[in-house]
Amino acid sequence: MVPVSTTAAAIIDAGAIQKALEQGCSPDAARVREILARARELKGLDPVEVAALTRISDPELLAGLFEAARQVKQAIYGRRLVIFAPLYVSNLCANECAYCAFRARNTAMRRRALTREEIARETLELVRQGHKRVLLVAGESYPREGFRYVLDAIATVYATREGRGEIRRINVNVAPLSVEEFRELKAAGIGTYQLFQETYHRETYAGVHLAGPKRDYDWRVTAMDRAMQAGIDDVGVGVLFGLFDWRFEVLALMQHAAWLERTYGTGPHTISVPRLEPAAGSDLAAQPPFPVSDVDFRKIVAILRLAVPYTGIIMSTRETPNIRRETFSLGVSQISAGSRTNPGGYAGGEGDDCGQFSLGDHRPLDEVVRSIAELGYIPSFCTACYRLGRTGRDFMDLAKPGEIRHHCDPNALSTFLEYLEDYASPATRAAGEALIDRVMAEMEPQGRRTAQRLLEAVRAGQRDVFV
Ligand code: SAM
Ligand code: SF4
Repeated sequence: MVPVSTTAAAIIDAGAIQKALEQGCSPDAARVREILARARELKGLDPVEVAALTRISDPELLAGLFEAARQVKQAIYGRRLVIFAPLYVSNLCANECAYCAFRARNTAMRRRALTREEIARETLELVRQGHKRVLLVAGESYPREGFRYVLDAIATVYATREGRGEIRRINVNVAPLSVEEFRELKAAGIGTYQLFQETYHRETYAGVHLAGPKRDYDWRVTAMDRAMQAGIDDVGVGVLFGLFDWRFEVLALMQHAAWLERTYGTGPHTISVPRLEPAAGSDLAAQPPFPVSDVDFRKIVAILRLAVPYTGIIMSTRETPNIRRETFSLGVSQISAGSRTNPGGYAGGEGDDCGQFSLGDHRPLDEVVRSIAELGYIPSFCTACYRLGRTGRDFMDLAKPGEIRHHCDPNALSTFLEYLEDYASPATRAAGEALIDRVMAEMEPQGRRTAQRLLEAVRAGQRDVFV
Protein backbone atom coordinates (compact mmCIF):
# COMPACT_ATOMS: atom_id res chain seq x y z
CA MET A 1 0.00 0.00 0.00
CA VAL A 2 1.43 3.41 -0.95
CA PRO A 3 2.04 5.93 1.83
CA VAL A 4 -0.67 8.42 2.77
CA SER A 5 1.54 11.14 1.34
CA THR A 6 0.57 10.37 -2.31
CA THR A 7 0.83 13.62 -4.25
CA ALA A 8 -1.53 15.05 -6.83
CA ALA A 9 1.38 15.19 -9.28
CA ALA A 10 1.68 11.40 -9.12
CA ILE A 11 -1.98 11.05 -10.11
CA ILE A 12 -2.61 13.81 -12.64
CA ASP A 13 0.00 14.83 -15.21
CA ALA A 14 -1.40 17.78 -17.16
CA GLY A 15 1.59 17.75 -19.53
CA ALA A 16 0.91 14.13 -20.51
CA ILE A 17 -2.77 14.96 -21.09
CA GLN A 18 -1.88 17.83 -23.42
CA LYS A 19 0.56 15.59 -25.27
CA ALA A 20 -2.04 12.85 -25.74
CA LEU A 21 -4.56 15.45 -26.94
CA GLU A 22 -2.05 16.69 -29.52
CA GLN A 23 -1.13 13.18 -30.66
CA GLY A 24 -4.77 12.26 -31.11
CA CYS A 25 -5.84 15.58 -32.59
CA SER A 26 -6.63 14.68 -36.21
CA PRO A 27 -7.25 10.98 -36.64
CA ASP A 28 -8.27 9.80 -40.11
CA ALA A 29 -11.33 7.62 -40.63
CA ALA A 30 -9.31 4.40 -40.83
CA ARG A 31 -7.63 5.11 -37.51
CA VAL A 32 -10.99 5.85 -35.82
CA ARG A 33 -12.44 2.58 -37.14
CA GLU A 34 -9.39 0.72 -35.86
CA ILE A 35 -9.84 2.25 -32.38
CA LEU A 36 -13.54 1.39 -32.35
CA ALA A 37 -12.77 -2.19 -33.33
CA ARG A 38 -10.30 -2.44 -30.45
CA ALA A 39 -12.85 -0.93 -28.05
CA ARG A 40 -15.33 -3.67 -28.93
CA GLU A 41 -12.89 -6.18 -27.40
CA LEU A 42 -13.90 -4.73 -23.97
CA LYS A 43 -10.33 -4.10 -22.88
CA GLY A 44 -10.51 -0.32 -22.61
CA LEU A 45 -8.47 2.25 -24.52
CA ASP A 46 -5.22 4.15 -24.06
CA PRO A 47 -5.07 7.97 -23.69
CA VAL A 48 -4.12 8.70 -27.31
CA GLU A 49 -6.99 6.53 -28.54
CA VAL A 50 -9.38 8.31 -26.20
CA ALA A 51 -8.04 11.68 -27.39
CA ALA A 52 -8.65 10.63 -31.01
CA LEU A 53 -12.27 9.69 -30.27
CA THR A 54 -12.91 13.08 -28.67
CA ARG A 55 -12.14 14.66 -32.09
CA ILE A 56 -14.77 12.77 -34.06
CA SER A 57 -17.20 15.09 -35.82
CA ASP A 58 -17.96 13.30 -39.11
CA PRO A 59 -21.58 12.01 -38.79
CA GLU A 60 -20.69 8.53 -40.03
CA LEU A 61 -17.82 8.10 -37.57
CA LEU A 62 -19.97 9.56 -34.82
CA ALA A 63 -22.64 6.96 -35.58
CA GLY A 64 -19.87 4.33 -35.44
CA LEU A 65 -18.77 5.61 -32.01
CA PHE A 66 -22.32 5.44 -30.66
CA GLU A 67 -22.87 1.99 -32.13
CA ALA A 68 -19.65 0.65 -30.53
CA ALA A 69 -20.70 2.14 -27.17
CA ARG A 70 -24.12 0.50 -27.48
CA GLN A 71 -22.49 -2.86 -28.14
CA VAL A 72 -20.14 -2.57 -25.16
CA LYS A 73 -22.94 -1.40 -22.90
CA GLN A 74 -25.14 -4.29 -23.99
CA ALA A 75 -22.34 -6.86 -23.62
CA ILE A 76 -21.46 -5.84 -20.06
CA TYR A 77 -24.60 -4.36 -18.54
CA GLY A 78 -27.33 -5.90 -20.67
CA ARG A 79 -30.64 -4.14 -20.06
CA ARG A 80 -30.12 -3.28 -16.40
CA LEU A 81 -30.34 0.26 -15.03
CA VAL A 82 -29.69 0.65 -11.31
CA ILE A 83 -31.89 3.21 -9.55
CA PHE A 84 -31.11 5.39 -6.54
CA ALA A 85 -32.23 8.62 -4.88
CA PRO A 86 -30.02 11.37 -3.47
CA LEU A 87 -30.66 12.25 0.17
CA TYR A 88 -29.50 15.77 1.00
CA VAL A 89 -29.04 15.95 4.76
CA SER A 90 -27.44 19.38 5.08
CA ASN A 91 -26.75 22.50 3.04
CA LEU A 92 -24.39 24.10 5.56
CA CYS A 93 -21.18 24.87 3.74
CA ALA A 94 -17.91 26.64 4.46
CA ASN A 95 -16.83 26.71 0.83
CA GLU A 96 -17.24 29.25 -1.88
CA CYS A 97 -17.66 27.16 -5.01
CA ALA A 98 -18.68 29.74 -7.59
CA TYR A 99 -21.14 27.32 -9.27
CA CYS A 100 -23.13 26.03 -6.28
CA ALA A 101 -26.20 27.44 -4.52
CA PHE A 102 -24.96 26.08 -1.17
CA ARG A 103 -21.81 28.23 -1.22
CA ALA A 104 -21.15 30.11 2.02
CA ARG A 105 -21.76 33.65 0.76
CA ASN A 106 -25.13 32.85 -0.79
CA THR A 107 -27.08 34.52 1.99
CA ALA A 108 -30.38 34.03 0.18
CA MET A 109 -30.19 30.30 0.98
CA ARG A 110 -31.95 29.08 4.12
CA ARG A 111 -29.43 26.87 5.96
CA ARG A 112 -30.44 23.62 7.46
CA ALA A 113 -28.88 20.41 8.77
CA LEU A 114 -31.61 17.82 9.23
CA THR A 115 -32.11 16.40 12.70
CA ARG A 116 -32.22 12.63 13.23
CA GLU A 117 -36.00 12.76 13.23
CA GLU A 118 -36.03 14.71 9.97
CA ILE A 119 -33.56 12.29 8.36
CA ALA A 120 -35.77 9.38 9.44
CA ARG A 121 -38.79 11.16 7.95
CA GLU A 122 -36.99 11.73 4.64
CA THR A 123 -35.85 8.11 4.58
CA LEU A 124 -39.36 6.88 5.26
CA GLU A 125 -40.63 8.91 2.32
CA LEU A 126 -38.03 7.28 0.03
CA VAL A 127 -38.76 3.82 1.45
CA ARG A 128 -42.47 4.34 0.78
CA GLN A 129 -41.70 5.22 -2.82
CA GLY A 130 -39.83 1.93 -3.15
CA HIS A 131 -36.22 3.07 -3.07
CA LYS A 132 -33.54 0.69 -1.77
CA ARG A 133 -30.39 2.72 -2.47
CA VAL A 134 -29.63 6.27 -1.46
CA LEU A 135 -26.76 8.63 -2.08
CA LEU A 136 -26.26 10.69 1.06
CA VAL A 137 -25.12 14.24 0.22
CA ALA A 138 -24.01 17.16 2.41
CA GLY A 139 -22.25 20.52 2.19
CA GLU A 140 -18.81 20.83 3.78
CA SER A 141 -19.62 22.07 7.25
CA TYR A 142 -21.20 19.91 9.86
CA PRO A 143 -23.21 20.90 12.91
CA ARG A 144 -21.78 20.67 16.44
CA GLU A 145 -20.99 16.95 16.24
CA GLY A 146 -18.62 17.48 13.30
CA PHE A 147 -18.06 14.46 11.09
CA ARG A 148 -20.03 12.30 13.58
CA TYR A 149 -23.08 14.02 12.13
CA VAL A 150 -22.56 12.11 8.87
CA LEU A 151 -22.01 8.80 10.69
CA ASP A 152 -25.18 9.38 12.71
CA ALA A 153 -27.11 10.22 9.58
CA ILE A 154 -26.01 6.93 7.98
CA ALA A 155 -27.03 4.96 11.08
CA THR A 156 -30.41 6.71 11.09
CA VAL A 157 -31.09 5.88 7.43
CA TYR A 158 -30.20 2.19 7.88
CA ALA A 159 -32.33 1.98 11.03
CA THR A 160 -35.44 3.44 9.37
CA ARG A 161 -37.73 0.67 8.15
CA GLU A 162 -41.40 0.24 7.49
CA GLY A 163 -43.07 -3.08 6.72
CA ARG A 164 -40.98 -4.66 3.99
CA GLY A 165 -39.36 -1.36 3.12
CA GLU A 166 -35.76 -0.50 3.96
CA ILE A 167 -32.70 1.19 2.53
CA ARG A 168 -30.14 -1.49 1.80
CA ARG A 169 -27.20 0.49 0.49
CA ILE A 170 -26.05 4.01 1.31
CA ASN A 171 -23.47 5.62 -0.95
CA VAL A 172 -21.98 8.84 0.29
CA ASN A 173 -20.96 12.10 -1.41
CA VAL A 174 -19.28 14.29 1.21
CA ALA A 175 -16.10 16.37 1.34
CA PRO A 176 -12.71 14.59 1.41
CA LEU A 177 -11.81 12.93 4.72
CA SER A 178 -8.70 11.77 6.56
CA VAL A 179 -7.78 8.07 6.48
CA GLU A 180 -9.08 7.71 10.05
CA GLU A 181 -12.43 9.28 9.12
CA PHE A 182 -12.66 7.09 6.03
CA ARG A 183 -12.18 4.07 8.30
CA GLU A 184 -15.17 5.22 10.35
CA LEU A 185 -17.17 5.72 7.19
CA LYS A 186 -16.40 2.18 6.10
CA ALA A 187 -17.33 0.84 9.53
CA ALA A 188 -20.68 2.64 9.18
CA GLY A 189 -21.45 0.28 6.28
CA ILE A 190 -21.34 2.56 3.26
CA GLY A 191 -21.36 1.27 -0.29
CA THR A 192 -19.48 3.65 -2.59
CA TYR A 193 -17.65 6.80 -1.50
CA GLN A 194 -18.22 9.38 -4.22
CA LEU A 195 -16.33 12.60 -4.79
CA PHE A 196 -16.12 14.72 -7.91
CA GLN A 197 -12.91 16.57 -8.64
CA GLU A 198 -15.12 19.17 -10.42
CA THR A 199 -12.18 20.05 -12.69
CA TYR A 200 -8.79 18.36 -12.90
CA HIS A 201 -7.35 21.54 -14.44
CA ARG A 202 -5.47 23.14 -11.56
CA GLU A 203 -5.75 26.80 -12.66
CA THR A 204 -9.47 26.48 -13.39
CA TYR A 205 -9.93 24.74 -10.04
CA ALA A 206 -8.28 27.70 -8.28
CA GLY A 207 -10.47 30.13 -10.21
CA VAL A 208 -13.82 28.62 -9.21
CA HIS A 209 -13.11 27.58 -5.61
CA LEU A 210 -12.77 30.96 -4.02
CA ALA A 211 -12.64 30.22 -0.29
CA GLY A 212 -12.84 27.41 2.23
CA PRO A 213 -11.11 24.03 2.61
CA LYS A 214 -12.14 22.94 -0.88
CA ARG A 215 -9.55 25.32 -2.32
CA ASP A 216 -6.98 22.59 -1.69
CA TYR A 217 -6.82 20.78 -5.06
CA ASP A 218 -4.26 18.25 -3.77
CA TRP A 219 -6.30 17.19 -0.73
CA ARG A 220 -9.25 16.54 -3.02
CA VAL A 221 -7.44 14.66 -5.77
CA THR A 222 -5.75 12.37 -3.22
CA ALA A 223 -9.02 11.63 -1.37
CA MET A 224 -9.61 8.33 -3.18
CA ASP A 225 -6.15 7.16 -2.13
CA ARG A 226 -7.02 7.77 1.50
CA ALA A 227 -10.38 6.02 1.03
CA MET A 228 -8.64 2.99 -0.51
CA GLN A 229 -6.05 2.96 2.26
CA ALA A 230 -8.91 2.93 4.76
CA GLY A 231 -10.38 -0.13 3.06
CA ILE A 232 -13.15 1.54 1.02
CA ASP A 233 -12.56 -0.15 -2.31
CA ASP A 234 -15.67 1.09 -4.15
CA VAL A 235 -15.01 4.71 -5.00
CA GLY A 236 -16.81 6.97 -7.47
CA VAL A 237 -15.06 9.78 -9.33
CA GLY A 238 -16.53 12.56 -11.47
CA VAL A 239 -16.13 15.88 -13.19
CA LEU A 240 -18.47 18.85 -13.25
CA PHE A 241 -18.64 19.32 -17.02
CA GLY A 242 -18.77 22.93 -18.16
CA LEU A 243 -15.95 24.33 -16.03
CA PHE A 244 -13.11 23.45 -18.42
CA ASP A 245 -12.47 21.71 -21.76
CA TRP A 246 -14.27 18.37 -21.57
CA ARG A 247 -11.54 16.63 -23.61
CA PHE A 248 -8.95 17.46 -20.97
CA GLU A 249 -11.30 16.30 -18.21
CA VAL A 250 -12.05 12.94 -19.86
CA LEU A 251 -8.33 12.21 -20.20
CA ALA A 252 -7.75 13.30 -16.60
CA LEU A 253 -10.51 10.93 -15.46
CA MET A 254 -8.64 8.19 -17.35
CA GLN A 255 -5.41 9.08 -15.56
CA HIS A 256 -7.13 9.02 -12.19
CA ALA A 257 -8.74 5.66 -12.96
CA ALA A 258 -5.43 4.22 -14.21
CA TRP A 259 -3.65 5.44 -11.08
CA LEU A 260 -6.15 3.73 -8.79
CA GLU A 261 -6.00 0.53 -10.78
CA ARG A 262 -2.19 0.54 -10.84
CA THR A 263 -1.82 1.38 -7.18
CA TYR A 264 -4.67 -0.49 -5.50
CA GLY A 265 -5.52 -3.19 -8.04
CA THR A 266 -8.94 -1.73 -8.80
CA GLY A 267 -10.14 1.34 -10.67
CA PRO A 268 -13.14 3.48 -9.72
CA HIS A 269 -16.45 1.66 -9.29
CA THR A 270 -18.35 4.52 -10.92
CA ILE A 271 -17.85 7.73 -12.88
CA SER A 272 -20.43 10.52 -12.58
CA VAL A 273 -20.99 12.96 -15.39
CA PRO A 274 -22.81 16.00 -13.97
CA ARG A 275 -23.17 18.97 -16.32
CA LEU A 276 -23.22 22.43 -14.82
CA GLU A 277 -26.86 23.45 -14.22
CA PRO A 278 -28.25 26.84 -13.21
CA ALA A 279 -27.99 27.38 -9.44
CA ALA A 280 -29.52 30.14 -7.30
CA GLY A 281 -27.19 33.11 -7.02
CA SER A 282 -24.51 31.76 -9.37
CA ASP A 283 -23.58 33.68 -12.53
CA LEU A 284 -21.02 31.02 -13.39
CA ALA A 285 -23.63 28.25 -13.36
CA ALA A 286 -25.91 30.34 -15.58
CA GLN A 287 -23.12 30.79 -18.11
CA PRO A 288 -20.71 27.86 -18.05
CA PRO A 289 -17.25 28.89 -19.28
CA PHE A 290 -16.95 25.69 -21.38
CA PRO A 291 -20.55 24.70 -22.19
CA VAL A 292 -20.95 21.07 -23.25
CA SER A 293 -23.44 20.61 -26.09
CA ASP A 294 -25.88 17.68 -26.09
CA VAL A 295 -23.90 15.99 -28.86
CA ASP A 296 -20.64 16.35 -26.96
CA PHE A 297 -22.35 15.08 -23.83
CA ARG A 298 -23.42 11.93 -25.64
CA LYS A 299 -19.85 11.61 -26.93
CA ILE A 300 -18.52 11.86 -23.36
CA VAL A 301 -20.76 9.01 -22.21
CA ALA A 302 -19.92 6.85 -25.25
CA ILE A 303 -16.17 7.44 -24.96
CA LEU A 304 -16.14 6.68 -21.23
CA ARG A 305 -18.10 3.49 -21.92
CA LEU A 306 -15.41 2.36 -24.36
CA ALA A 307 -12.42 3.59 -22.36
CA VAL A 308 -13.38 1.99 -19.00
CA PRO A 309 -15.97 -0.64 -19.91
CA TYR A 310 -16.35 -2.09 -16.41
CA THR A 311 -16.82 1.20 -14.57
CA GLY A 312 -20.44 2.18 -13.95
CA ILE A 313 -21.59 5.54 -15.35
CA ILE A 314 -24.03 7.55 -13.26
CA MET A 315 -26.52 10.03 -14.65
CA SER A 316 -28.50 12.25 -12.33
CA THR A 317 -31.80 14.09 -12.67
CA ARG A 318 -29.83 17.20 -13.64
CA GLU A 319 -30.47 15.99 -17.20
CA THR A 320 -33.81 15.98 -19.03
CA PRO A 321 -35.73 12.75 -19.65
CA ASN A 322 -34.71 12.94 -23.32
CA ILE A 323 -30.98 13.12 -22.73
CA ARG A 324 -31.25 10.47 -20.05
CA ARG A 325 -33.04 8.15 -22.45
CA GLU A 326 -30.46 8.68 -25.19
CA THR A 327 -27.50 8.02 -22.91
CA PHE A 328 -28.93 4.81 -21.38
CA SER A 329 -28.08 2.92 -24.53
CA LEU A 330 -24.67 4.58 -24.85
CA GLY A 331 -23.34 3.54 -21.49
CA VAL A 332 -25.17 4.90 -18.45
CA SER A 333 -25.68 2.14 -15.88
CA GLN A 334 -27.10 3.99 -12.84
CA ILE A 335 -29.64 6.79 -12.60
CA SER A 336 -31.24 8.80 -9.85
CA ALA A 337 -35.01 9.16 -9.91
CA GLY A 338 -37.64 11.27 -8.19
CA SER A 339 -34.86 13.47 -6.76
CA ARG A 340 -34.97 16.51 -4.49
CA THR A 341 -31.77 18.45 -3.81
CA ASN A 342 -32.93 20.51 -0.83
CA PRO A 343 -32.56 19.02 2.67
CA GLY A 344 -36.04 17.94 3.81
CA GLY A 345 -37.31 17.99 0.22
CA TYR A 346 -38.97 14.56 0.22
CA ALA A 347 -41.15 14.81 3.30
CA GLY A 348 -41.65 18.58 3.05
CA GLY A 349 -41.72 19.12 -0.71
CA GLU A 350 -39.64 21.76 -2.47
CA GLY A 351 -41.32 24.41 -0.31
CA ASP A 352 -39.57 27.77 -0.20
CA ASP A 353 -36.11 26.20 -0.18
CA CYS A 354 -34.34 26.09 -3.47
CA GLY A 355 -32.26 23.02 -4.22
CA GLN A 356 -28.56 22.86 -4.94
CA PHE A 357 -29.13 23.32 -8.69
CA SER A 358 -32.10 23.03 -11.06
CA LEU A 359 -33.33 19.62 -12.09
CA GLY A 360 -34.05 18.53 -15.63
CA ASP A 361 -36.20 15.52 -14.71
CA HIS A 362 -39.00 16.12 -12.19
CA ARG A 363 -40.92 12.87 -12.68
CA PRO A 364 -41.78 10.72 -9.65
CA LEU A 365 -40.07 7.32 -9.27
CA ASP A 366 -43.11 5.35 -10.47
CA GLU A 367 -43.20 7.27 -13.74
CA VAL A 368 -39.45 6.91 -14.31
CA VAL A 369 -39.65 3.17 -13.63
CA ARG A 370 -42.55 2.77 -16.06
CA SER A 371 -40.83 4.69 -18.83
CA ILE A 372 -37.59 2.72 -18.35
CA ALA A 373 -39.49 -0.56 -18.50
CA GLU A 374 -41.36 0.56 -21.62
CA LEU A 375 -38.01 1.32 -23.23
CA GLY A 376 -36.96 -2.28 -22.53
CA TYR A 377 -34.54 -1.63 -19.64
CA ILE A 378 -34.83 -3.47 -16.32
CA PRO A 379 -34.99 -1.01 -13.42
CA SER A 380 -32.76 -2.66 -10.79
CA PHE A 381 -32.80 -1.99 -7.05
CA CYS A 382 -30.12 -4.62 -6.48
CA THR A 383 -27.66 -4.24 -3.62
CA ALA A 384 -26.32 -7.81 -3.62
CA CYS A 385 -22.65 -7.28 -4.52
CA TYR A 386 -21.90 -4.90 -1.72
CA ARG A 387 -23.77 -7.01 0.82
CA LEU A 388 -21.95 -10.17 -0.23
CA GLY A 389 -18.59 -8.41 -0.12
CA ARG A 390 -18.23 -8.42 -3.90
CA THR A 391 -16.55 -5.01 -3.97
CA GLY A 392 -13.37 -3.52 -5.39
CA ARG A 393 -11.13 -6.12 -6.96
CA ASP A 394 -13.45 -9.04 -6.15
CA PHE A 395 -16.17 -7.29 -8.15
CA MET A 396 -13.86 -6.59 -11.09
CA ASP A 397 -12.59 -10.19 -11.09
CA LEU A 398 -16.18 -11.34 -11.64
CA ALA A 399 -17.09 -8.50 -13.97
CA LYS A 400 -14.20 -8.77 -16.41
CA PRO A 401 -14.76 -12.34 -17.62
CA GLY A 402 -18.49 -11.52 -17.88
CA GLU A 403 -19.41 -13.71 -14.89
CA ILE A 404 -21.22 -10.93 -13.08
CA ARG A 405 -24.16 -11.12 -15.51
CA HIS A 406 -25.20 -14.48 -14.05
CA HIS A 407 -25.73 -12.63 -10.77
CA CYS A 408 -26.88 -9.23 -11.98
CA ASP A 409 -29.69 -10.20 -14.34
CA PRO A 410 -31.54 -12.45 -11.85
CA ASN A 411 -30.96 -9.94 -9.02
CA ALA A 412 -32.20 -7.07 -11.15
CA LEU A 413 -35.37 -9.01 -12.00
CA SER A 414 -36.08 -10.05 -8.41
CA THR A 415 -35.64 -6.52 -7.00
CA PHE A 416 -37.71 -5.11 -9.86
CA LEU A 417 -40.50 -7.58 -9.06
CA GLU A 418 -40.33 -6.56 -5.38
CA TYR A 419 -40.85 -2.97 -6.51
CA LEU A 420 -43.75 -3.93 -8.77
CA GLU A 421 -45.50 -5.95 -6.06
CA ASP A 422 -44.98 -3.53 -3.20
CA TYR A 423 -45.02 -0.02 -4.68
CA ALA A 424 -45.94 0.26 -8.36
CA SER A 425 -49.10 1.82 -9.80
CA PRO A 426 -51.28 -0.57 -11.85
CA ALA A 427 -49.95 0.85 -15.15
CA THR A 428 -46.33 0.46 -14.07
CA ARG A 429 -46.99 -3.01 -12.77
CA ALA A 430 -48.49 -4.08 -16.09
CA ALA A 431 -45.56 -2.62 -18.05
CA GLY A 432 -43.11 -4.25 -15.62
CA GLU A 433 -44.67 -7.72 -15.71
CA ALA A 434 -44.66 -7.62 -19.51
CA LEU A 435 -40.97 -6.70 -19.48
CA ILE A 436 -40.10 -9.49 -17.04
CA ASP A 437 -41.82 -12.02 -19.34
CA ARG A 438 -39.90 -10.71 -22.34
CA VAL A 439 -36.54 -10.74 -20.57
CA MET A 440 -37.08 -14.24 -19.19
CA ALA A 441 -37.94 -15.56 -22.64
CA GLU A 442 -34.67 -14.22 -24.04
CA MET A 443 -32.36 -15.24 -21.18
CA GLU A 444 -29.79 -18.00 -21.48
CA PRO A 445 -30.80 -21.18 -19.58
CA GLN A 446 -28.50 -20.85 -16.54
CA GLY A 447 -29.56 -17.26 -15.83
CA ARG A 448 -33.21 -18.07 -16.50
CA ARG A 449 -33.20 -20.91 -13.97
CA THR A 450 -31.68 -18.68 -11.28
CA ALA A 451 -34.03 -15.82 -12.11
CA GLN A 452 -37.02 -18.18 -12.05
CA ARG A 453 -36.09 -19.33 -8.55
CA LEU A 454 -35.70 -15.77 -7.26
CA LEU A 455 -38.90 -14.53 -8.91
CA GLU A 456 -40.89 -17.42 -7.44
CA ALA A 457 -39.53 -16.59 -3.99
CA VAL A 458 -40.60 -12.95 -4.37
CA ARG A 459 -44.05 -13.95 -5.65
CA ALA A 460 -44.36 -16.23 -2.62
CA GLY A 461 -43.80 -13.24 -0.36
CA GLN A 462 -40.06 -13.43 0.35
CA ARG A 463 -38.04 -10.25 0.10
CA ASP A 464 -34.38 -9.40 -0.35
CA VAL A 465 -33.47 -12.58 -2.23
CA PHE A 466 -30.32 -12.46 -4.34
CA VAL A 467 -27.37 -14.44 -5.62
N1 SAM B 1 -20.04 19.35 -0.66
C1 SAM B 1 -19.38 18.20 -1.14
C2 SAM B 1 -18.51 18.50 -2.33
O1 SAM B 1 -18.59 19.57 -2.87
O2 SAM B 1 -17.75 17.60 -2.70
C3 SAM B 1 -20.30 17.08 -1.56
C4 SAM B 1 -21.65 17.36 -2.06
S1 SAM B 1 -21.86 18.50 -3.39
C5 SAM B 1 -23.41 19.01 -2.83
C6 SAM B 1 -22.13 17.39 -4.75
C7 SAM B 1 -21.77 17.84 -6.14
O3 SAM B 1 -22.74 18.72 -6.66
C8 SAM B 1 -20.49 18.61 -6.31
O4 SAM B 1 -19.38 17.77 -6.28
C9 SAM B 1 -20.70 19.28 -7.66
O5 SAM B 1 -20.10 18.57 -8.71
C10 SAM B 1 -22.21 19.25 -7.86
N2 SAM B 1 -22.74 20.58 -8.16
C11 SAM B 1 -22.55 21.70 -7.48
N3 SAM B 1 -23.14 22.75 -8.10
C12 SAM B 1 -23.69 22.26 -9.25
C13 SAM B 1 -24.41 22.85 -10.34
N4 SAM B 1 -24.68 24.16 -10.39
N5 SAM B 1 -24.83 22.04 -11.35
C14 SAM B 1 -24.57 20.72 -11.31
N6 SAM B 1 -23.89 20.11 -10.30
C15 SAM B 1 -23.45 20.88 -9.29
FE1 SF4 C 1 -20.35 23.36 -0.65
FE2 SF4 C 1 -20.13 21.13 -2.17
FE3 SF4 C 1 -21.68 23.21 -2.95
FE4 SF4 C 1 -19.06 23.50 -2.94
S1 SF4 C 1 -20.24 22.03 -4.21
S2 SF4 C 1 -20.52 24.99 -2.14
S3 SF4 C 1 -18.48 22.29 -1.20
S4 SF4 C 1 -21.99 21.91 -1.19
